[in-house]
Amino acid sequence: MKVGILALQGAFIEHEKILEKVGVDIFEIRQKEDIKDSFDGLILPGGESTVMGKLLHDLELFNPLQAMIFEGIPVFGTCAGLLLLAKEIINDNRLHFAAMDISAKRNAYGRQLGSFYTEEEFKGIGKIPMTFIRAPYIESVQSDTEVLAVVDNQIVAAKQKNKLVTSFHPELNQDTAVHEYFIKMIEGKN
Ligand code: GLN
Repeated sequence: MKVGILALQGAFIEHEKILEKVGVDIFEIRQKEDIKDSFDGLILPGGESTVMGKLLHDLELFNPLQAMIFEGIPVFGTCAGLLLLAKEIINDNRLHFAAMDISAKRNAYGRQLGSFYTEEEFKGIGKIPMTFIRAPYIESVQSDTEVLAVVDNQIVAAKQKNKLVTSFHPELNQDTAVHEYFIKMIEGKN
């Protein structure tokens, strides 16, 4: 199994460390040559969704990655990665891959004071640590999107077919459970 991690900007190294810890082969996606060989899963890290969106286009990575996502490659978006996947961002008119039936709100907890830590239930896993940094939340889900976690009445994790998103950063804690959940998706077990 080989997982590509978008490494244009943001918190990609933390994802690499977690996947290395659970024994999965990873590689960084920085330019279009990096995705010429096939791979099994894709991670879209946290960072700044607008910056990543622009770089994806500038580097000609946007179209091939979007096609792979629509064709069904398992993809895991954290925080800004969630925004890259959302079909609607209610407070921003810029959309990116627009592949997942969720309505997200950007910087939903406020810009500066919006960082916090909590522990909450994640469906199929149990209670896990959740670190939020200027995070979005999911205002509503549509179609067959399944809600996986809720914090203070706001949806913070969801899954739809090949797509998994969290508005928090599981890669910033030592807990590997959400990444293992994603690996099971790649294996067709989740
Ligand atoms: N606020 C960022 C955005 O709008 C997301 C923050 C994050 O990824 N930690 O893209």
